[in-house]
Amino acid sequence: MNITDNIARLRADIDRAAVQSGRSGSDITLVAATKMQSAEAVRAAIAGGVDACGENRVQELMEKQAAEAYVGAPLHFIGHLQKNKVRKVVGAVDLIQSVDSLPLLSAIDRVAGELGIVQETLIQVNIGLDADKFGLDAQGLADFIAEAASLPHIRVRGLMTMLPLEADSKEMRKLFAQMYQVFVDIKRKNLYDTIDMDYLSMGMSGDFYEAILEGANMIRVGSTIFGHR
Ligand SMILES: *Cc1c(COP(=O)(O)O)cnc(C)c1O
Repeated sequence: MNITDNIARLRADIDRAAVQSGRSGSDITLVAATKMQSAEAVRAAIAGGVDACGENRVQELMEKQAAEAYVGAPLHFIGHLQKNKVRKVVGAVDLIQSVDSLPLLSAIDRVAGELGIVQETLIQVNIGLDADKFGLDAQGLADFIAEAASLPHIRVRGLMTMLPLEADSKEMRKLFAQMYQVFVDIKRKNLYDTIDMDYLSMGMSGDFYEAILEGANMIRVGSTIFGHR
């Protein structure tokens, strides 16, 4: 396993998909999904040129942060965040990608307020309406965003999604395209100062190419960078 080579190959694929969708590779933010990877592997990924690191579990994040694993790259939280762990994550990460409920968002706002900061977040959308996945359904998004806009210590930077595992390539592209439509609709309406649609985070090792073709500008990749867990 050579992390540097894996990232170079991945970047070449990202460039190809970006060009095919009328953009360039530099328009795509590559987040390394670092769950279960050592601090040393995380450092190698940062040296290899990933744009950010994404961690799933609070405990793991804190251990690796203490080991200074993430120095030199922004840190994102990408896993399901329990309300009782919010205090450990807010302010410790640059972006919480996985906001999937109003109680969670309110808890983040409250803690960010106590710290005197504004926490950047993405809203996780369950576009495939997969019972196994967290996230809001797209119908409820307008109300959710209106609520988010009323919270003074939250800034929304975009949307995140994960597809159902069983989706085939055609189904994937359809769901990614739906997600892009939702993203663009909110972006175009531009109703609130603190809600920006800068990032559409979708695509992992198995589906990042399709995701980019359908408009993703942020992908979260683990096994293609680090090898199989
Ligand atoms: C693990 C993980 C990824 C990356 O998955 P791979 O298939 O290893 O690329 C992306 N997003 C989230 C939320 C993850 O937990």
